[in-house]
Amino acid sequence: MVIVMEKHAPEEKIERVVAELSSRGFDVHRSTGADQTVLGVVGDVASIDIREFELFDGVQEAVRVSEPYKLTSRTFKRENTVVKARGVAIGGDEVVIMAGPCTIENEHQLFETARRVARSGARILRGGAYKPRTSPYAFQGMGVDGLKLLRAAGDENDMATISEVMEISQIDKMLEYVDIMQVGARNMQNYNLLSALGQTRKPVLLKRGLSATIQEWLLAAEYIMAGGNYDVILCERGIRTFETYTRNTLDISAIPVIHHLSHLPIIADPSHAVGRRDKVMPLARAIVAAGADGVLIEVHHDPDKAVCDGPQSLFPDQFARLMDELRIIVPAVGRRL
Ligand code: PEP
Ligand code: MN
Repeated sequence: MVIVMEKHAPEEKIERVVAELSSRGFDVHRSTGADQTVLGVVGDVASIDIREFELFDGVQEAVRVSEPYKLTSRTFKRENTVVKARGVAIGGDEVVIMAGPCTIENEHQLFETARRVARSGARILRGGAYKPRTSPYAFQGMGVDGLKLLRAAGDENDMATISEVMEISQIDKMLEYVDIMQVGARNMQNYNLLSALGQTRKPVLLKRGLSATIQEWLLAAEYIMAGGNYDVILCERGIRTFETYTRNTLDISAIPVIHHLSHLPIIADPSHAVGRRDKVMPLARAIVAAGADGVLIEVHHDPDKAVCDGPQSLFPDQFARLMDELRIIVPAVGRRL
């Protein structure tokens, strides 16, 4: 259920409604807009007669949210959520580009790549320290040593950092080095991990699962928000279809669909979607044209020698060219880069 307070309702009136809901055992999630407060109520709301709450002083309306996801829904919050990570706003006017290698390999690789992508205009540096590899024999990541390099390379280039968390035990040490915690496609339905991230106050980038529907994806985001962490960014990264030419199939329609259903920012990752360097640039252009709030792209200073995902990683010069192209497209969709 969502309770929409009257415009400029005084704090005492809002608190009275919150106190009543809390005394009945419901979780109340408050969204304070510019001139209106909305209360998201979760729990066994089927037992409530919503008219009772409509009669509360200061309440404009009470509505049941018909979707199974609540806090992620636009019914709960009408204005777009803007997630801030080390001064970079995702979901606002600016289209935010996150770039870097698939995995952190060594100091030279990361610093060289970071410098190049920063110079071209990327605001957030990506790099995995814990890697969800399909084969247990493949390189599994540098762990904390990699995170230290990521932080240092981010600081040197005035960039925020993003890296993937694979399990609960990694969260605490990652919080120190990382500005956005990435949940990978394979972990989208690891509900214990999502709940644990909901207890932090660090932005989370939630990738869409390989075969997840949009509803399942929003419910996964709900797990994080239910813990009180509202800083969730969704990331479309391609879904598994019958097509085998590309690594996955980029579901570009997810971008406007999510913007309609949810207030959360949505970005997309063309690299893991298509899996081939020569197709990453056109997909990135399409992602921005479709209205995404950002793009996550794999770039490596020497992709032919990359330990992981080299064939889909852009050369720094290609990334620079792509950024020039995006600077032409972005204003056409009313955004800035
Ligand atoms: C990644 O971004 O490094 C990654 C492993 O992506 P995904 O979870 O989308 O496969
Ligand atoms: Mn990768």
